[in-house]
Amino acid sequence: MGFRIKTLTPLWTRGINRECTKLRETSILGSLRWWFEAIVRGFGGYACDSVGEVVEKCKFDVDKYKKGKRPEELICPVCYVFGTTGWSRRFRFEVDKNSYQSVTLSLAIDGLGCNHSPLPKNVRWWLDQTLGGLSPVVIKEKTNGGILLNVTTSDSIIVDILYLTLKTIQEFGALGSHNSYGFGVVKVLEPSNVNIDKALVFIEQYCEEWRCDEETRSKLSKMPNLKHVFKIDFRLLDDDELHNKNIGFVLKYALRNKFKNEYDKGFAEQLFGSKKDRPNKFSGKVFVSNCWEEGGEFFFRVYGMLPPSILGSRKREDIVDTIEEGIKECLDADVVSRTLLNFEEDEYLDINLFKKLVMKNE
Ligand SMILES: [Zn+2]
Repeated sequence: MGFRIKTLTPLWTRGINRECTKLRETSILGSLRWWFEAIVRGFGGYACDSVGEVVEKCKFDVDKYKKGKRPEELICPVCYVFGTTGWSRRFRFEVDKNSYQSVTLSLAIDGLGCNHSPLPKNVRWWLDQTLGGLSPVVIKEKTNGGILLNVTTSDSIIVDILYLTLKTIQEFGALGSHNSYGFGVVKVLEPSNVNIDKALVFIEQYCEEWRCDEETRSKLSKMPNLKHVFKIDFRLLDDDELHNKNIGFVLKYALRNKFKNEYDKGFAEQLFGSKKDRPNKFSGKVFVSNCWEEGGEFFFRVYGMLPPSILGSRKREDIVDTIEEGIKECLDADVVSRTLLNFEEDEYLDINLFKKLVMKNE
C-alpha cells in the first residue's frame, strides 16, 4: 500500500549532515505524527506530548495488557498509531528513493521589492542568519507520478488514518521539516481503497474514551490543535518573476514587522518565532510557503495555528485579517481559499465538519 504525493513546494531534506540529499523518513513521520496529534486534540481527545515536555508521553503497560486490557485503553490514539515505549508503530514506512530527486535551490531574494512594498530591498542578511548562508538541498518528485510513500501494515484502519492525516496536511499545512522556510506544501495523488469514514469513526470513538479534562486541556493548550488552525491560499496577480523567488521568507519578514508595529514586539515573536540568538528561542505559529504553479498561475499559502495561550484578548479573526491585509500590502494577490477554525475551548470538531473541510475536493 502506498501514497503518492506531489510536492507543490519542495520538501526539505538537509539533516544534521549538510551533505545529506536523502529524504529522511523520520521527518515525514514526525510531521504526520504532529498533524495527527492536532486532529485528535481537535476532536477533543487526549494526545500526549511526544517529547514529554508538557505532559508525559504514554507508556504501554504490558502487565495490564496481559490481564486483558485493550491497547486503546492504555495509550492515547497518537501513540496507538505511531508507537511508544512498549508498543511499536502500527505500520512500516519507507519512501521509495527511486521516486524523488534532490535539487539545490538558488536563493533568489535579493531586490525582492514588491509593488506597494514595505519589503526591505535586501533581506539576504536575514536569510543568511536563518540558513547559515547555504543553498538548501531540497526534494522533488522525479516524475508526475509523485513521491511514493510505502506503508505496510496488517491493520487497514491505519492506512485510512494516514490518508486522512495527509489530506489534512494538504488542506491546512505542509509536510516534512523546516516548513517555516516555505517548504513542504503537497498534494496527495491517487487515493485508492481508502475508507475515510471508517477512520473518522475510529478516531471519534477513541477520542470519546480519551476526553481531556479541563486541567489537562489547559496544560496542552499550546500544543498543535486543529481547532485553532487557519489557512489562506493566495494567487499572485502580478507575477513579475516573483514565483522564482523565495517569497515565503520575505513575506514572513514583512508580516513580522507589521505585527510589531500594529500589535507589539512580543506578540510578533509569538507568531513568527523568536530571534535565533535568544537563549530560549522558540518557533513561530505562522508559516508562509513559497510559490507553486498550477495551470499557468502561481499560488502560495499562509497558515498556522493560533492557540488561546498566545491570543490573550485578541481575536483570531482580527489576526487572520491583519495577515491577509499585510500580504496584500506587499504584493498583488487575491485570496482563493480561506479557512479559520475558531472554537471555544470546551467545543470540538465533529466528523461532518472535518470531512467537509478536508475532503472538499473529492
Ligand atoms: Zn500518547
